[in-house]
Amino acid sequence: MSKIVKIGKVTIGGGNPIAIQSMANVDPHDEGLLVSQVKRLKDAGCDIMRLTVPDTEAAEVFGRVRRSLNEDGYDIPLVADIHFDYRLAIKAIENGADKIRINPGNIGSIERVREVVKAASERSVPIRVGVNSGSLEKHIIEKFGGVTAEGLAESALENLKIIEDLGYDNLVVSIKSSNVKMNYEAHKLLVKGTDHPVHIGITEAGTLKRGQVKSAIGIGSLLLNGIGDTMRVSLTADPIEEVYYAREILRTLGMRPSAIDLVSCPTCGRTKIDLESLAGEIEKGLESLEKRLLNEGKSGIKVAVMGCAVNGPGEAREADFGVAGGLNEGLIFRKGNIIKKVPEDRIVGELLELIENTIFTAEK
Ligand code: SF4
Repeated sequence: MSKIVKIGKVTIGGGNPIAIQSMANVDPHDEGLLVSQVKRLKDAGCDIMRLTVPDTEAAEVFGRVRRSLNEDGYDIPLVADIHFDYRLAIKAIENGADKIRINPGNIGSIERVREVVKAASERSVPIRVGVNSGSLEKHIIEKFGGVTAEGLAESALENLKIIEDLGYDNLVVSIKSSNVKMNYEAHKLLVKGTDHPVHIGITEAGTLKRGQVKSAIGIGSLLLNGIGDTMRVSLTADPIEEVYYAREILRTLGMRPSAIDLVSCPTCGRTKIDLESLAGEIEKGLESLEKRLLNEGKSGIKVAVMGCAVNGPGEAREADFGVAGGLNEGLIFRKGNIIKKVPEDRIVGELLELIENTIFTAEK
């Protein structure tokens, strides 16, 4: 099992829940935009946010963002993403970073790395050592004849060792490749050589559609192998999609509580209703109900949205609630028994009302 590391108020490693991360993509010098983006992502379920710190001004803004979020009750940990300039890492730590992400190999001399480690250890700030396929060291590429899983794992272990040798082991490690198979093999090698918590993800996964598939397979396969303590789904999209999708991956694997399991049929020639829109509306309507259920510690409710009355109720017999669509109407059912028939425009409202009334009235 991996070691435990505390990132602000979030603890990762040692079997703790997998923390979801995302990264701000607004101007790192714009305090207002950063604050509102971090809040939006936190409200969507993000556990840890990373902010890039490309220059001194951004390091100062980082501090102001931290203070502003604290004042508004948002204590979500902030990670400073640093490349090349060790002084920015120190400045970000002084300005309240809960973790920093560096690659010791591109920070420069060992003296500079030592300065960063000193600042981090004074404030118990963890360091994520990040290696990715695009910035693999020359000597590693030469040794392995190109970018390989073995090379990625060796580079990560070498970079970790640089900091471990300085007496600091408050570390998280990451390897990122956009090649799912290479990413998988590299992680399997990595965890044989270290027990630091691992931040997982597929880098440059791509646009929403392709990136989701790549991330589901890339991240999912690692999680199923017990690898990964925190994760980021990287998408060329609004970062809020990264958070939604990360949550879905964890829910699918049973690693994050899910109050409501929504199933819907794939539709076929029997379908006489716009099931795609209907399922989408029901999914949206269930979101606030799900939040309420999770807040009250309830889970395990199954809702089925089926396209016909012939097979619908039967196919979804195991569901607690459901609807089977017909021509301009829908049958609402509970545990396989039909409760009522309603016109199409009332299906969503009636179904949600039934669910809400049954769950919240039953307990009174
Ligand atoms: Fe087709 Fe009905 Fe099955 Fe949906 S539930 S796939 S509409 S038979």
